[in-house]
Order: sequence, then structure tokens, then C-alpha cells
Amino acid sequence: MIEIAINFTPLFYTVLDCQPYIICNDMKNHFWSNLCKGGILTCSLLLGAPVSAQKAMEKGYETISEEQGKNYVEFLADDLLEGRDAGMRGGQLAGKYIASLLRDWQIPPYFSAGYAQSFDVAMLTKPQHGRWEVHPDSIAKINTTTAYRLRHLNNIIAAIPGKKLDEFIVIGAHYDHEGMEADILPDGIYNGADDNASGVSAVLQIAKAFRQSGELPERTVIFAFWDGEEKGLLGSRYFTAHWPHPEQIKGYMNFDMIGRGPVHKPDHLTYFYTASHPAFGDWLQADMKKYHFAFDPNYRPWENPVGGSDNGCFAKIGVPIVWYHTEGHPDYTRPTDHADKIDYKKMTDITRAAFLCAWRMANQKKF
Ligand SMILES: [Zn+2]
Repeated sequence: MIEIAINFTPLFYTVLDCQPYIICNDMKNHFWSNLCKGGILTCSLLLGAPVSAQKAMEKGYETISEEQGKNYVEFLADDLLEGRDAGMRGGQLAGKYIASLLRDWQIPPYFSAGYAQSFDVAMLTKPQHGRWEVHPDSIAKINTTTAYRLRHLNNIIAAIPGKKLDEFIVIGAHYDHEGMEADILPDGIYNGADDNASGVSAVLQIAKAFRQSGELPERTVIFAFWDGEEKGLLGSRYFTAHWPHPEQIKGYMNFDMIGRGPVHKPDHLTYFYTASHPAFGDWLQADMKKYHFAFDPNYRPWENPVGGSDNGCFAKIGVPIVWYHTEGHPDYTRPTDHADKIDYKKMTDITRAAFLCAWRMANQKKF
């Protein structure tokens, strides 16, 4: 039995003291089972004095650091991870690494099967060369042909339970990249430091900050690391297709490339958000004044934000989104997207600003 000395509020204790709670009958594997059945967290939390919400937020905020973010990017973008191709060895290693960090911080998996939300994808081979399919019916159809590709992918999904068990926010980034091509010289490994080790580092730091704040959020916060984005948003497509109650997700925050910027404007950040939720823009404007972050946002309210990255899958099911993106650069989708070219100060400040936004998404009654 593991005991955790942390200042979670008494309500968390009350909730944990209960029997496993199933939020969605049709989603049987719920993380409350993990919490209460001797998983990572147990009912024997050692409680300290409750801290104020503001202090808790500051406590979490202060855990975010440039050094930590750099460590994550440098590992994920190392040649040893072979470009993190979805379903291949390097991609699987990246998933294992992310899960090991979450486990170390005692942030439980959302699904009782563990951190990996596993699924298959299939694609016809030449000459019918098509796209990767994630839907079981499409895969079944492909399976009847003579030659097809099949890969086993893993989203990594963790969650911090909220006081409300029927309201969620999701914070996500894809961890896969383009893999490698051994016959390209001098370097055939698509390291994907900016795309998207940078985004993964932000979700990891935000997850840790929520955990170390010592405060139970109002809404349940899901941390999602998508597989197969580069092959057609496969991980986020699978997750949203199998999520039973879209209206329960109150917001989705996406990171895809937050460590570089256009050559002529290195401090640029494109800040996309669902236009019907102007609060998302107001929050960042207020935080820019207070914190003087080392980036310059271009505010982009978007009527129907279905393109570009994993945010599209959430927008399609009616979830309001925020997407942090620092735009293309000469190393985009090239083997030269290396960790030593990342602007870590800028990446860290975007992570900090996003944590403040996520904290409001998780805790404010309405937005
Ligand atoms: Zn990307």
C-alpha cells in the first residue's frame, strides 16, 4: 500500500473513501477503479491542511521549469527513439517513457487497463495505397484483402479526479512523429523536437503542476498523449469516437509545435481558440499583462476549429478548444528538427501560460 503525503482537500479523501464510482455505464473501465482498488492512489492519503485555491495554483505554477521541459524534449527527440514512428519501436518507447513519468508522479491512468489506450489501425498496401483507418468496420474490410498494413497504437491517458466526476477537461499533445528513413544521408531520423516533443513536454509539466498543487480541481482533468497524429489524427480520432458523452468535456487544450517560430519573428505564438468562447482570449490577454511572457501571441478566434491537429477531432464533437502553435520553420518535417534548436525559454513560458488557462478551464464555473 502506498501512502501519499500531499495537501489534497478533505473532499478528495471523502471521495476516495467511497466505493469505485463508474461515471459512464458504457465505459466500464473507469479510473476510479484504479484509485480505490489499491492502484496508484489509495484511500489512505495523509492529509495536510487545505490550501487556498490561489496558493495551490501558484504552488503548481512554480513547479514548471525550463530545465525540466528541456529534459523531456532532449529524451524524446534523441536518435535512440528513431523518430517515434507510431506503432514502431521508437514510438512505443516514447509511450512507455511518458507513462513512467506519470506513474512516478502518482497521476493514475484513466482506464483501468493502464496508461495505454490501445487500438489497431490498418491501411491497404500499393497499388490501392490509401490512408490509415482506425474504425473497426473499416479495418475489418481491409482485412479481407490480400495485403495490408496493420499497426498497434497506444494513446497514453492519465487523469486527476475532480470534485465533479461528470465534467472533464482534456489537455493533449501528440507524441508520435515521422520515424526514420535509413537511406537518407547524413541523417535519416526525424527527431521531431519541435513537432511534437515540445508539446508533450508542456502536457507533462502541466500534469505535474496540477498534481503538485495539492488541490483537487473542480472538473476531472485528463492528460492525453496521442499516438498516430502524423498518420491522420488517429489517436484523437479513436479517443473521441469512443467517448460516450461529448457534452461532458468542457474544453480541450492542444499543443502541436511550441518550441520554435518563423525566422523573421521568433517570439511568435498563434493562439487559436473557439470563437464562441471569448474568455479563452481574455484569459491570455490578462496573463500577458501580469506575467510578461517571452512570446508574442497572435489571437485567432476560430468559428469551427476542425483543422491542423488533434484539436480538430474535439471540435467535431462540439468541444471548445484552445491550441498553442508557434508555426513552421525551415526544419519542419525534416530530420533536422533537433532538440538543440528549441527556444526553451519561449517553450517554458507557453507552458506556464497554458497552465494558467488550464487551471481556469478546470476550476471556473462558466466560461
Ligand atoms: Zn505535429
